[in-house]
Amino acid sequence: MLTFSDFALHRNLQRAVNDMGFEEPSPIQATAIPLILEGHDVIGQAQTGTGKTAAFGIPLIERVSNEGRVQAIVLTPTRELAIQVSGELRKISKYKRTRTLPIYGGQSIGHQIRTLKQGVQVVIGTPGRILDHLRRKTLRLEDVKMVVLDEADEMLDMGFIDDIKEILSYTPEERQTLLFSATMPNEILDLSRRYMNNPQTVAINRKEVTAPLIDQVYYKVLERNKLDSLCRILDSEEVGLGIVFCRTKRGVDELADALQERGYLADGLHGDLSQAQRDRVMKGFRDSSIELLVATDVAARGIDVGNITHVINYDIPQDPESYVHRIGRTGRAGRKGIALTLVTPREMRQLLTIEKVTKSNLQPRSVPTLAEVAE
Ligand code: ADP
Ligand code: MG
Repeated sequence: MLTFSDFALHRNLQRAVNDMGFEEPSPIQATAIPLILEGHDVIGQAQTGTGKTAAFGIPLIERVSNEGRVQAIVLTPTRELAIQVSGELRKISKYKRTRTLPIYGGQSIGHQIRTLKQGVQVVIGTPGRILDHLRRKTLRLEDVKMVVLDEADEMLDMGFIDDIKEILSYTPEERQTLLFSATMPNEILDLSRRYMNNPQTVAINRKEVTAPLIDQVYYKVLERNKLDSLCRILDSEEVGLGIVFCRTKRGVDELADALQERGYLADGLHGDLSQAQRDRVMKGFRDSSIELLVATDVAARGIDVGNITHVINYDIPQDPESYVHRIGRTGRAGRKGIALTLVTPREMRQLLTIEKVTKSNLQPRSVPTLAEVAE
C-alpha cells in the first residue's frame, strides 16, 4: 500500500498531512503528487471529492520556499472555493509556515494590499480580483514558479478564459502549470496545448463520471406540488446537512423563505448576496446551524463541507455536467451520500439525457404520502 511517506516529503509536511487525518493517498494524489514534485506540468482529471486540492496542494507547498515574492498562484472559479483551497493549503503548511492569502472580490482591497506588502508566497483567488491587483501593480508574479488552474472547466463556463490568459501573461514562461478539472471539454485541451509544457495527463476513473458512493434517486412530481413534495421527502429522509439546488436566484430566495416558514433550518446562497451575507450563510452551514443550504449552481461550485448527506435537485440541472458537479457535493472522501432529483413530467427527457451521459441509473421512488411521513 502506498503511503504519504513514500513521497519523501519534508518532515514538516508529513506531520501536517498526519494531522489532517489523511492515511493513504487517493488515486489522483498517488499519481499526480510524484509528477508534480518532479516538476512536470500536469493535467488532473478526477471526479469531485477525490482529493484534487491536496493532489496539487501538497507538492505545491513542498516546492515553494518561504522567502521572497509570490511563488505560486492558484486560480479558482468562485470566492467560496478560493477560501476553501486557501484553508486546505494553510493546513498543509501548518508547520512549514508558508504564507498563503486568498484574494477575491467583495473583500476590502486595502486589507489585501497590506497583507501582500508584508510578504506572501502563495496567492489563491478568483481571476477578476487577481487581475485587479496585477493592473494596480499591488501583486507581482515575476517570481512565480507554479500556476494552478483549479476547477478549470468551471472557470471556462463562467467566462474567465480571457482573464486567465491575461494572468498567465504576467507569469514567467518557464513556470510549472497544473490544471485540474472534473471534466475535459475541448476548450480545456486547447488551453493546455497553448499554455502548458508537455503536460502529463492523470485521469482517474474515466468511464465512471459520477462518484460511486452516491445513491441516486429521482421522484416524479407535479410542478404545483413541488414544495409539498420536497417537504415530505425531507421529513422522510435522515438529512444531516443538505444542499438544495434551484435554477435561479429568485427561486433560491423563494424556496429558502418557504422552508424557513415551515420550520426548516434553511438559508439561501446566490451571487446577488453581499460577501458578508455569503460568509455568514457558509459559516452557518459549516457549523450546522443551517441544515439546508438552498443554492444556485454558481454559488455552490466547489463547496466542500464534510458530512453533506443529501444533494437535492429541486430544479433539475440544465445539463449532465451540472448534475455531476451538484451531486459531487456529497459522498466525499469515501463517505456515502444521497442525491435526490425532483422531476416534473416535462423534464423526463432531461433526466434521460443525464442518465445516458453520466452512465448512471437513477432509481425511481415515489413521494411519501402524508401518512408515511407522520409515522
Ligand atoms: P476535489 O477537489 O477532488 O473535489 P477535495 O480536494 O475538495 O476534492 O477533497 C474532498 C475531501 O476529501 C476534503 O475534505 C479533503 O480534506 C478530503 N481528502 C483529500 N485527500 C484525502 C486523503 N488522502 N485521505 C482522506 N481524506 C482526504
Ligand atoms: Mg476541487
